[in-house]
Amino acid sequence: MVQKQGKADCIFCKIASGEIPAKIIYRDDEVFAFPDINPVTPVHILVLSIKHITSLAEMPDKETPLVGKMIRAANQIAREQGIAKSGYRLTINSGADAGQLVPHLHIHLMGGRHLDWKH
Ligand code: AMP
Ligand code: ZN
Repeated sequence: MVQKQGKADCIFCKIASGEIPAKIIYRDDEVFAFPDINPVTPVHILVLSIKHITSLAEMPDKETPLVGKMIRAANQIAREQGIAKSGYRLTINSGADAGQLVPHLHIHLMGGRHLDWKH
């Protein structure tokens, strides 16, 4: 129910459906990815579930394998972006204290420079 309520006005669902344009750099039947509009690192890609899931905290246990698929896609994108060897960080913000701005599950793939811990 929560998922359906969020979906109608969800910016990332609108990107998934093509209603809002973004440079989609990866897509399969469950996962897609595009560059963050406000990058904090030279490579900053968002890797998302196509299905609207509000946050990690609200993700049903049965969806846990989806996170593995998102990580698999992030690893592939990291190789394609040339940062697999230099290093990268995956971050999932869940909820207010983590600064989650968009309530649709996504992984930040960040790299291309040295990242201080707790940037
Ligand atoms: P979070 O704080 O983890 O919810 O991250 C949301 C991210 O989405 C931020 O880093 C924003 O810069 C990014 N963002 C918001 N709107 C767009 C958009 N239309 N296209 C690409 N990135 C976006
Ligand atoms: Zn959504």
